Formats: sequence, C-alpha cells, structure tokens
Amino acid sequence: MKIEKDRVVRFHYALFDADTGAELESSRGRDALAFLAGRGGIIPGLEAAFEGKEAGASFETTVAPEQAYGPRHENAVQRIPKKHFTHSRLVPGATVMLRTDQGPRVVVVKKVGMSVVDVDLNHPMAGKNLRFAVDVVDVREATAEEISHGHAHGDGGHKHD
Ligand code: ZN
Repeated sequence: MKIEKDRVVRFHYALFDADTGAELESSRGRDALAFLAGRGGIIPGLEAAFEGKEAGASFETTVAPEQAYGPRHENAVQRIPKKHFTHSRLVPGATVMLRTDQGPRVVVVKKVGMSVVDVDLNHPMAGKNLRFAVDVVDVREATAEEISHGHAHGDGGHKHD
C-alpha cells in the first residue's frame, strides 16, 4: 500500500545535522512513530519525502530549515521567571519545556539566575539543514475516527487519556 493522504504510516528514523553529520535524534531501539499522512503531523519537507513510498521502503532526505523548523532568529533570548518552567533541570544548554499562552514550547536554557532564566526561544533545530534516514514499517488505511481527529491512533500514534 502506497503512502498517500489519510493513510497511517509507522516508521523508524534517525535524524542528522546535514552540515556536521552529528546525530540529533533516533527512534532506533524505541517504538516506531506513526503519523496520519497529509495532515501536517510532521514537518513539511519530511512529509513530502514519504509521498508514494510503501511499507519496507528505506530512504534518506535532506530538508532545509524553511521546510523544517524555520530559520534561526537572532535576539530571540528572553528573561523568564522560573515559575513558568515545568522542568527542574535548569542548566545552561538544557532543552526544556516552557508553558506559554500558545501552549508548550521547547526552548534552550542560556543562563540561570536566582529567580529568572534566560532562554533562547529558537527551536533547537531552527536554522539547521536536517538529514533523515527513514525506514517505513507499515502503511494502513486510517479509521474514520483518526481522520476526524486529524492524527494517528494506536502504536506510535496519539494516546488519549
Ligand atoms: Zn485522536
């Protein structure tokens, strides 16, 4: 079955900084991830590379920032009260979750003070050319419920409480 809109894809991936070759993330040794094709659940450049592939396919693709996490913005450092952080390991360089009015956001800690923290609001992968090595595990038709929710359920998909 080919990957197209409203089919659920499970896949493993390794993600590298395309410029340095450093591995940034990998799903190897963990559960495969699932997404509902054509619904914007993954970054656009990666989604496009899945189109038309089948279960068992392996491919590599390099995605520019514009099709991934966007460009890096200079002057994106902000000083934020410590109480806004859900994460306790506040050390420079740590990637932590920040609660914002627009929902949770991933930021990088720059400097930690007594009651405030300076964070870089750029996504940690902003401005990077990303190389993905992907193995397609399986492809299936989405259920009506998945289509109405706009995301995949089941193994590797969205879990509802
Ligand atoms: Zn759902």
